Amino acid sequence: MICDTVAAVSTPRGKGGIAVIRISGDESAAVLRRCFRPAGKAPWDAPRLACYGTVVRGEEEIDTGLCTFFRSPASYTGEDSAEISCHGGTAVTAAVLEAVFAAGAVPAEAGEFTRRAFINGKLSLTEAEAVGRLIDADTDSRRRLANSAAGGRLKSAAEDICASLRGVLAALYAAIDYPDEDIGDEGEREIEGVLCAAGEKLKALLSTYRTGSAVADGVVTAIAGAPNSGKSSLYNLLCRSDRAIVTDVAGTTRDTLWETVDAGGVTLRIADTAGIRDTQDRVESAGISRALQVMESAELVIAVFDGSRPLSQEDRELAKHLRDAPAAKICVINKSDLPLCVKETDTGDFFDEYVIMSAATGEGADRLYGAVSRIYNSDGISLEKDAVLWDARHKATAEKALELIDASLKGLRRGDPLDAVCTLAESALAEMGMLDGRGVTEDIVSEIFARFCVGK
Ligand code: GDP
Repeated sequence: MICDTVAAVSTPRGKGGIAVIRISGDESAAVLRRCFRPAGKAPWDAPRLACYGTVVRGEEEIDTGLCTFFRSPASYTGEDSAEISCHGGTAVTAAVLEAVFAAGAVPAEAGEFTRRAFINGKLSLTEAEAVGRLIDADTDSRRRLANSAAGGRLKSAAEDICASLRGVLAALYAAIDYPDEDIGDEGEREIEGVLCAAGEKLKALLSTYRTGSAVADGVVTAIAGAPNSGKSSLYNLLCRSDRAIVTDVAGTTRDTLWETVDAGGVTLRIADTAGIRDTQDRVESAGISRALQVMESAELVIAVFDGSRPLSQEDRELAKHLRDAPAAKICVINKSDLPLCVKETDTGDFFDEYVIMSAATGEGADRLYGAVSRIYNSDGISLEKDAVLWDARHKATAEKALELIDASLKGLRRGDPLDAVCTLAESALAEMGMLDGRGVTEDIVSEIFARFCVGK
């Protein structure tokens, strides 16, 4: 049980028009009575109504603002809670928070409001995780993925599979408890059908992980190519800014720049690597060895070739180097705004995708986004409409549950005793429950909420 009434500033640190201080716990109304002097209606008498008044600490008037009180269970955390909107200066916000502490609240920990919402059953664990991801989302794909999961899509899909497993268990319990009433072949086939369907649904859910993690974690991407092929121009096009220095002096890019970008509905963690070529320049050499390192660890390599001139020795070396690399590979034949003398097939037949485009004009950029999307979302998963797994925890849990469903199915088909089949199906259900937080250990819950910011 959670006893303390906690408070924190929920808006970011720094100067702003308004700051919001959030309070949650049984004593929320009592805390407010001590630190908020209403001008008209008292917030604790008028839940969900923004009430104007003065924040006070003892006799001192700290600030004026609006206070909204939420009565349990109709609140984000499920507890009595309140939000005070005050002026957003750093000193004002700190003084209002101090007044709330002086009135009896204690500081909230990172993610404590959402953790309370989870503990009080207002949110499932995947919904709570999605809230954290929504706040962290820095690309539109990440926002769409998190918003859909926060709205309960993944929870519903998991619940659907759990409901099938519960149906299987009910039938198995009946067969075990009343052995005289033989369920017969037909009964066993029915159980087998439901188990099979649950396994198929889980497989379909697991197949979304490649896309989900490509959006949530991002795909480590290297842009590789000979000097002057247009790597920095492509990097800038993807970042929609002039982050890398673009010049026609070979060897301008000496360090590896990283950026997170949305491309084809996938998040690319993209490195603009120094041109791969032999060089005597020590600083540039360091850049090139870093570029090779990035290429080694990249999950996706976008290899850029200058299509306006015949392939050089360096281009051929790069293609040779990439041939056996485990990463996904896209071949970009760049400078399509100029007469082209390089064909797709000239660069080798081992690329997953070939794109002819101009990094300078942006012509053909959609083809590049399409190529990324075909590699990472070949099933055309909709981040808004489909349930998507995005976290390694989800994947591990779903895989374990699938293993158990498969094992119980095999047992049933082999004619194993029904109680052995039942134990495996029970374990599968318990594993599925963990996806949404039932039965997860305190450590896992703490680890998840420690990633949150204070005030959420
Ligand atoms: P990097 O050395 O591979 O990073 O190449 P840069 O992006 O610095 O480009 C080298 C030169 O090629 C610069 O003068 C760019 O303006 C030019 N360039 C890059 N992409 C294109 C393109 O699509 N069309 C044309 N015409 N020029 C390009």
